[in-house]
Amino acid sequence: MNHSPLPTTLPETERTRHRRLREQGSLDRGVLDAVLKAGFICHLGVVLDGHPMVVPTVYGSDGRNLYFHGSVASRSLATSPDTTVCITVTHVDGLVLARSVFEHGVNYRSAMVYGTPRLVTDAEEKLAGLRCLTEQSAPGQWDYARRPNRKELAATALLALPLDEASVKISTGGPDDGDGPDARLGLWAGVLPISAAFGDVEPDPALEDGIEVPAHIAVRAGTGLG
Ligand SMILES: Cc1cc2nc3c(=O)[nH]c(=O)nc-3n(C[C@H](O)[C@H](O)[C@H](O)COP(=O)(O)OP(=O)(O)OC[C@H]3O[C@@H](n4cnc5c(N)ncnc54)[C@H](O)[C@@H]3O)c2cc1C
Repeated sequence: MNHSPLPTTLPETERTRHRRLREQGSLDRGVLDAVLKAGFICHLGVVLDGHPMVVPTVYGSDGRNLYFHGSVASRSLATSPDTTVCITVTHVDGLVLARSVFEHGVNYRSAMVYGTPRLVTDAEEKLAGLRCLTEQSAPGQWDYARRPNRKELAATALLALPLDEASVKISTGGPDDGDGPDARLGLWAGVLPISAAFGDVEPDPALEDGIEVPAHIAVRAGTGLG
């Protein structure tokens, strides 16, 4: 496995070069990492039998690869290693409510990663990738839950998409029409923030008596996500 440090700046390719609202883009790999670390759901865009298919799926990122997984029978996963895919991660931070409908917008952090994913076949990397993916959404569960057995591993396809070609875009701030003629319309304008949070735990009714919520899960109830 290659452990040499990655460049701190993302290369700007024909695919990743922002054309519109370029000032919202960033070539800082640290910004990409932060966006990827803030979530665990991505959308995998892949062309299957000549048609685009965009599949929501769970991911994990170790800063070098974005790992995603599923059934070996999954058509989108089976096709991915043969083709260029685009994976998108989106966090929605607020609704920007302007005086005019035209100026309405969304505050967000998003990333798009392009490349040809690699089917992970090395047993050690497969476990490490599955650990990365599990820990990203549920830190502590890899050590707490039963790990996949040989049969489960065989039924699971794990793909690694290198974080070599990616773009990031971040939109913040309020409406843009505060200094134009619409500012005098007497209409309210501003931002309605959006935040995702974990709720209270819901114990499985089949739980045997005396099994407490583990601390690494209990501690997340009511906390924000990303
Ligand atoms: C939740 C959300 C809602 C949005 N709603 C709208 C909307 O209603 N209307 C609208 O016009 N735009 C919207 N955007 C912005 C949109 O994603 C595009 O950035 C914008 O439309 C420019 O598109 P384009 O095809 O001109 O991209 P270009 O600037 O031509 O894209 C060039 C390259 O820049 C990169 N890039 C572009 N957009 C993004 C992105 N969002 N994140 C990471 N990399 C990117 C890609 O690598 C792309 O290939 C929204 C974004 C988010 C996250």
